[in-house]
Amino acid sequence: MPRVIVFLLTLVLTIPAHAEGFITRLLNKPVPGGVAVVELGDGVAAPQVRYQGKPALVIREDGQRWIAILGIPLTIKPGAQQVDVNGSPRSFQVEHRKYRAQHITLKNQRQVNPNPEDLKRIERELAEQTEAYRQFSPNQPSNLLFDKPVEGPLSSPFGLRRFFNGEERNPHSGLDFAAKAGTPIKAPAAGKVILTGDYFFNGKTVFVDHGQGLISMFCHLSEIGVKVGDPLGRGEILGKVGATGRATGPHLHWNVSLNDTRVDPSIFIGAFKL
Ligand code: ZN
Repeated sequence: MPRVIVFLLTLVLTIPAHAEGFITRLLNKPVPGGVAVVELGDGVAAPQVRYQGKPALVIREDGQRWIAILGIPLTIKPGAQQVDVNGSPRSFQVEHRKYRAQHITLKNQRQVNPNPEDLKRIERELAEQTEAYRQFSPNQPSNLLFDKPVEGPLSSPFGLRRFFNGEERNPHSGLDFAAKAGTPIKAPAAGKVILTGDYFFNGKTVFVDHGQGLISMFCHLSEIGVKVGDPLGRGEILGKVGATGRATGPHLHWNVSLNDTRVDPSIFIGAFKL
């Protein structure tokens, strides 16, 4: 057989049944604190997917196959994970990712060891915010590849193990941008404002529901420019960068949540590094 034909045959045989879609290629980072994209086939109706007992985001990729986009908790160990698709189990693999430690010094010791009154407030605020993260609206997100909410260098990455004045606290649940106080914060995708507040740790905060459990939280704002129920267009301003709550200086802290799981926001802006 002429060599060129052999070459062409090899090429045909190595092309997969379909090319991996754009969304899958960019969002599939199956590590603790990352995102798993699970393929679900090309049926007529959207499959119902639940992961860790919670409803998950399902979209049609390239107008063909259905995919589930799952948030993987930071606490998950690498290995096989199961997801429920129309009542049947399906598995996917979680890979390893190492997270660094960070030591922060706070002048206000009350922000490290809150007093009993603070603790009551923190508990109340946590319940309110947890409820916001559990909302699941049926609309499809306007875009899954997000715009950056502010311009400016990334400072603290997601998942850092944090020590405040030497005491270990929860790992960093979002991504920080270094930006000057007063910098406008833009919605990275369209959505609806579902919660605003002025919290002990997070300071002035806005929650935006982008649809199907994909939820953003913006913290430490100097000014909140929206109210609950407001619809937000992609790129619309929702507030300004500040240093309210537990912050050592002005910056934007941005959380992204999928199926009530905080994941690394860098994945959604093409800035993910292992
Ligand atoms: Zn932060």
